[in-house]
Amino acid sequence: MSDSTLNGKLFLRIAPTVAVTILIVAALAFSSATREINNIYDAQLIDDANVLWTLLQRKLDGPLQIAQQRVPDIDFSMDDQLALNQDADDYADAHMFRAWKAGRIVVYSSTAFLSEVPRQNAGFSTLEHGKEEWRIYTLPIPNTEIVIEVGEKLALRKTLVANILLNLFFPLLILVPIIGCLTWLGISSGLSPIRGLVRQIRTRSPDDLSTIRVSELPRDLLPLGRSINHLLGKLSRSLELERRFSDLAAHQLRTPQAGVKLLLQMLAAADTEAERRAIIADLVACSDRATHLIEQLLRLARVSHHPLELKPVRLYELAASLLADFGKIASSRRIQLSLAGDDRALVGADESLLSLMISNVIDNAVKYTPVGGRVEVTIARERDCWCLSVCDSGPGIPTDKHEAVFQRFYRLDTLQNEGAGLGLAIVSDVAARLSATVSLTTPRWGEGLKADLLLPHIENA
Ligand code: ATP
Ligand code: MG
Repeated sequence: MSDSTLNGKLFLRIAPTVAVTILIVAALAFSSATREINNIYDAQLIDDANVLWTLLQRKLDGPLQIAQQRVPDIDFSMDDQLALNQDADDYADAHMFRAWKAGRIVVYSSTAFLSEVPRQNAGFSTLEHGKEEWRIYTLPIPNTEIVIEVGEKLALRKTLVANILLNLFFPLLILVPIIGCLTWLGISSGLSPIRGLVRQIRTRSPDDLSTIRVSELPRDLLPLGRSINHLLGKLSRSLELERRFSDLAAHQLRTPQAGVKLLLQMLAAADTEAERRAIIADLVACSDRATHLIEQLLRLARVSHHPLELKPVRLYELAASLLADFGKIASSRRIQLSLAGDDRALVGADESLLSLMISNVIDNAVKYTPVGGRVEVTIARERDCWCLSVCDSGPGIPTDKHEAVFQRFYRLDTLQNEGAGLGLAIVSDVAARLSATVSLTTPRWGEGLKADLLLPHIENA
């Protein structure tokens, strides 16, 4: 059993998805902010160039005799009170302009780089100057030799983007634990029906096999609830059967016990030797019956608890050895035993359970067949199974009792009263465990009983 809870497991599966989603959203927001900032700043540069041209137009339109003119910083001429703040000053330093006429710089800002940096091509360009990257917009004035250049340090944009990133990051720092808590709470409340189900099962007493309430369960948990109820139903039915069986078994065991007691009392009161001998013979028979009943009960219990050891079993050889065990009793009653059929028959089964099943059927055939009758065992192929049939010339079983005789302790009124009524119940339980089928019919000679055991065939190795 692992220590982790379902809550924790679900959280660990959901949390990475939420974290990745947050990161993707942040990355998308960041990249779109960067794009927008670049667009706005580029548009600003175009505006700056146009405004500059409007301002300088009169000055530059005239003949080219003016001297090169540097435009001073505006904050130089202001006293400290009016001076722009440091940040604004930095922003101002991050801009420059140059106005060219006939290939010569005519007017330029104090921040501009001089003629060591050649004029840039028309439109936007990026250049590196003194460890700084600049974004330049070059505007050639049509039909003149005038070119206006405005520029801006790219660091300005990068600082802004970094600020946006930081502003995005801090709310996320607070948001992530909040999302984590909400997810945890959501999972917890979503799993509450399962906890309710566990509580319902845990709090009940061991002998309470009543169904659990499934009406409050969400739709996807309904199959689980129904399966549990189905299992509880099966459990309660089989417990009921077990209870009835143990009651019957106790009753059956008490019968020979009462017989023994009665016979012992009779023995004590017997006058003659002949009487005593007869009573002792009855006592032995009674004890044999009790022993047989206990053996059958133990066999029945073994069928359900015996660990299956499936392996290829040669059906013909097994049937022959089991028939041989009945040789003595059959000959004492002049019953003719025979075995016929395919001696290559190979079935996949647990040999000891299979022997138990076959010997119970043969035992019935021999037991219920009158003196001078016959019991015939045949083995034949039937589609993908091997069919072992045991036919006898006894009284047979009426068709309407074919189902009932497989019940525990069910016996028909026959002349033969030696039996525990468990043989066919054992056969039916073994058949269920070995995936075999049992059916009862009438033999081809028209009387008696034919028991067919269909066993799964396996190929010859
Ligand atoms: P056990 O086999 O436990 O010693 P049993 O033979 O009485 O006792 P089953 O083998 O379960 O019990 O058989 C149930 C009943 O079916 C028998 O009591 C008998 O009446 C009837 N029966 C079974 N096999 C035959 C058969 N070959 N011919 C006639 N009746 C049979
Ligand atoms: Mg029997």
